[in-house]
Amino acid sequence: MSRRKKLYEGKAKVIYEGPEPGTLVAHFKDDATAFNNCKHDVLEGKGVLNNRISEYLMTQLGEIGIPTHFIRRLNMREQLIREVEIIPLEMVCRNIAAGTICKRLGLEEGTRLPRPVIEYFYKNDELGDPLVAEEHIAAFNWAGPQELEDMVSMTLRVNDFLSGLFAAAQIRLVDFKLEFGRQYEGDMVRIILADEISPDSCRLWDMQSGKILDKDRFRQDLGGVTDSYAEVARRLGIMKDQPNLTVIRNGDGG
Ligand code: UDP
Repeated sequence: MSRRKKLYEGKAKVIYEGPEPGTLVAHFKDDATAFNNCKHDVLEGKGVLNNRISEYLMTQLGEIGIPTHFIRRLNMREQLIREVEIIPLEMVCRNIAAGTICKRLGLEEGTRLPRPVIEYFYKNDELGDPLVAEEHIAAFNWAGPQELEDMVSMTLRVNDFLSGLFAAAQIRLVDFKLEFGRQYEGDMVRIILADEISPDSCRLWDMQSGKILDKDRFRQDLGGVTDSYAEVARRLGIMKDQPNLTVIRNGDGG
């Protein structure tokens, strides 16, 4: 896919020009980063798994009427997506206390929150994605009031739906991060779900054992990162046709 023009390279994905106007190609890399890029590694096969898991979750969400940027998967590492103007906010939704909220509010990890809690982080690597309030979003016009309302209601719907979907696979959806973008169609602008939903952007715990099945395995040096992602894929019924991880790890083509 190197013939395509590269538009942007992020930490876990490369974005290429798409085959038609208004489309892009997202290429999922094996790179893993944490702590604002201070920790970096290459985890063979992670990109293939995230491409498949995100395809599956975005497709399921599309079927319940959540508009997403996902069009179709092109090959093991790439998917065709709609071009959007990314809103510079990370919408984090939490069901159980883990990660930064524990330190910030003195909560014990694993505490069930009284209700889903949505937090906003300003997407800015130089600043380390700081937590921001609705006031900042409005004052700096990162998103309009209606846009924010749309993003909050979609995030809550995604939370309800994915909590059930993962529960059926004996996985607890602890928290997750979503990103949204503006899709321009003539005079119309609408907010659609963008980026990816994968174990890189969710906290997923095994319901019985509490085993961590997400990127915290990388952040905390627990090992077995891709094996856990493969376990998530397997439980969701994805990649049943895949005989073993060797195919996933070497998967560069179609
Ligand atoms: N998250 C993410 N990207 C980020 C920051 C957080 O995908 O840049 C996800 C993270 O994987 C977790 C949720 O958002 O599922 C909440 O993350 P938290 O604020 O606890 O920060 P972290 O501990 O992940 O740095």
